[in-house]
Amino acid sequence: MSNPVIPYGKQEITQQDIDAVISVLQSDFLTQGPQVPAFEKALTDFTGAEYALAVNSATSALHIACLSLGLGNGDWLWTTPVTFVASANCGLYCGAQVDFVDIDPKTYNMCPVSLETKLKLAQQNNCLPKVVVPVHLCGQPCDMKAIRRLADQYGFAIIEDASHAIGGKYDSKPVGNCEYSDITVFSFHPVKIVTTAEGGAALTNSVELAEKMALFRSHGITRDESLMTEESHGGWYYQQVELGYNYRMTELQAALGVSQMTRLSDFVTARHRLADRYNQLLVELPVTRPYQLPNTYSGLHLYVIRLNLDAITKTHREVFDALRNNGIGVNLHYIPVHTQPYYQDMGFKHGDYPHAEDYYHNAISLPMFHLMTEQQQDEVVRVLRQVLLETK
Ligand SMILES: *Cc1c(COP(=O)(O)O)cnc(C)c1O
Repeated sequence: MSNPVIPYGKQEITQQDIDAVISVLQSDFLTQGPQVPAFEKALTDFTGAEYALAVNSATSALHIACLSLGLGNGDWLWTTPVTFVASANCGLYCGAQVDFVDIDPKTYNMCPVSLETKLKLAQQNNCLPKVVVPVHLCGQPCDMKAIRRLADQYGFAIIEDASHAIGGKYDSKPVGNCEYSDITVFSFHPVKIVTTAEGGAALTNSVELAEKMALFRSHGITRDESLMTEESHGGWYYQQVELGYNYRMTELQAALGVSQMTRLSDFVTARHRLADRYNQLLVELPVTRPYQLPNTYSGLHLYVIRLNLDAITKTHREVFDALRNNGIGVNLHYIPVHTQPYYQDMGFKHGDYPHAEDYYHNAISLPMFHLMTEQQQDEVVRVLRQVLLETK
């Protein structure tokens, strides 16, 4: 019998998590009760941000973040091509146009030098972005000081897509504190670092943005008299003052999130222990290991290696397939967004972002989850070594 596949990511659900969810099922509130505010408090306590809005996905969080910043028709949103499609799609939801900034070939994050070059050009052509979405790929924070400096110079807002990076640090301070951005977004999908099944959050230090995002999360409806256009008609009264959505997180999800947040630091510590071990075990293999920007501590959602294809006799695809066929659940994050058919239909084409495309042609995400045992990790490395070093 073959061994079970070692997945690239996996959640941990403890009895404490299960009990937390069951107690919600036995309580009066399945939605709009005390657990969502408790989860939001856990997020602000952990990160130091002033406000957190829990929602049903990071995709929804990106959408309400863009709406609260007033992104709309005629505006531009820029992000990186090496991300999940949601980081770009949020701009299209708002009727804005989307463009990309190539990655830094060392960190795989949006390159601040390319960003500056593109901003100079955009200024001449009168099409500066309203919103820029840097993505902390694999959990490694972007060069936020450089991006902040450009935001101040060129007048765009910053939404950090920190879907990979909860528990990470920039300059020794928690990702999500929004020191260099307007809004930070987290994802709580099960493959991410902490989970609420589905779920996301948007964090900010701005009361105005927090109030707007709260409206967009729930139909644009308010019960706060200070936001109403006329006096309340009575205890039942509410007003719709924006066109919002139903992006609310349930109490079940939030209770799971509260319980998971108590272990976040342990999760990230375990990921670092595994990454340090990979760094040593892979040292002699023909792969490039992750580079870490000096003033950052990664959340380590992913551990990505790049194959030195010149030094081996197999193709990227052959290595990937051989790993999968031997029980190693590798993955590839990500197919550059601009090469997706939907984006190609908007005029993007292969060759537009060469560093992103180079990355795509030799990157592989190795299994990385905090419950991974050293035995499982040794097995990943053993198979990888065999696949890379054996000749066809
Ligand atoms: C997972 C992910 C998202 C979307 O998260 P959901 O919670 O599944 O909507 C957005 N951006 C990045 C970078 C992600 O990895």
